[in-house]
Amino acid sequence: MVYPTVTDKDPEKIHIVKDQNYTVCGYCYNKFATFTKEDLKKIHFIKVEKITCNSCTSSFS
Ligand SMILES: [Zn+2]
Repeated sequence: MVYPTVTDKDPEKIHIVKDQNYTVCGYCYNKFATFTKEDLKKIHFIKVEKITCNSCTSSFS
């Protein structure tokens, strides 16, 4: 199973994307109302085992 994810830099954590602004745990990775191609580049589809944010993964278990 793969999920769309974004990486938070400080501390480095991989989150699952919920919508165009937020991750599942509530981290805001995109502050803007618009969603551009640049934002799309931030999103990587990876396996759930590689996701390092516990709050995000626990929502799916
Ligand atoms: Zn998270």
